[in-house]
Amino acid sequence: MLIGGIEAGGTKFIYGISTSEGEIIDKQTCSTETPEMTLKTVVDYFMDKEISALGIGSFGPIDLKLGSPTYGYITSTPKPYWGNTNIVGYFQEKLQVPIGFDTDVNGAILAESLWGSCKDLKNCCYITIGTGIGGGILVENQLVHGILHPEIGHILVKQHKKDSFEGSCPFHQDCLEGLASGPAIEKRWGCTGSQLPTNHITWEFEAYYIAQLLVSLILTVSPQRIVLGGGVMHQKQLLPLIHEQVKTLLNGYIKVPQILNDIKDYIVSPSLEDNAGFLGAIALGKSVI
Ligand code: ZN
Repeated sequence: MLIGGIEAGGTKFIYGISTSEGEIIDKQTCSTETPEMTLKTVVDYFMDKEISALGIGSFGPIDLKLGSPTYGYITSTPKPYWGNTNIVGYFQEKLQVPIGFDTDVNGAILAESLWGSCKDLKNCCYITIGTGIGGGILVENQLVHGILHPEIGHILVKQHKKDSFEGSCPFHQDCLEGLASGPAIEKRWGCTGSQLPTNHITWEFEAYYIAQLLVSLILTVSPQRIVLGGGVMHQKQLLPLIHEQVKTLLNGYIKVPQILNDIKDYIVSPSLEDNAGFLGAIALGKSVI
């Protein structure tokens, strides 16, 4: 049985087919242009693939409320041309297969729990730190939706004493995404993170901000493991700094061995690596078979 997957990102779409056990058979990429252009490129690809179901993990905000008149839409995104786009309806009409739809990060945590570093865990979180910051949350094996879906990239954080950057979020200025996303690093220093030395103070700032999100998640969701992905996390010096900061900020308050003794196995890189998003879409497709 073949499952189609679409990781719909603000910069590029990754799409392809896989077995229901997450073995990727083919994967393609195209840049995100207008919905008319990009959705047609993707649907043309699937026309002769004989998939049994399709999963779409999308950038947001999206409407996940079954029965809502705008279910399956990308709703109020500031991304030009993509506001109010009926992405599920488009593929439903052309492909006539069941469609699983969720945020890209909710898909990613589902895939990590099926095939990756959170296998057999019922409570876990996936955070991506890249062009934006987002997170997917699995609680008792259910993806969290609630009134919308988690948008934890925009939590408010305490600013580092040595950081005078005003922040780059158009909604909140100095929220987490405004201080720690890839574009925030670039705006602060005038160059990308990958152009900065590995001992640059920006990595201390990053660790401080990301650790605040992780501490908030640990204190609210009590996850059994947290996975950190996205382009900024390709900086290998960052993860150990985050481990230290999480312990410093918690200050011994949560006395569990996962944090006190084994934090390297508790806050981890995606074991599905850069396929986490695409396999997330496959996992969403698998969920509707
Ligand atoms: Zn924000």
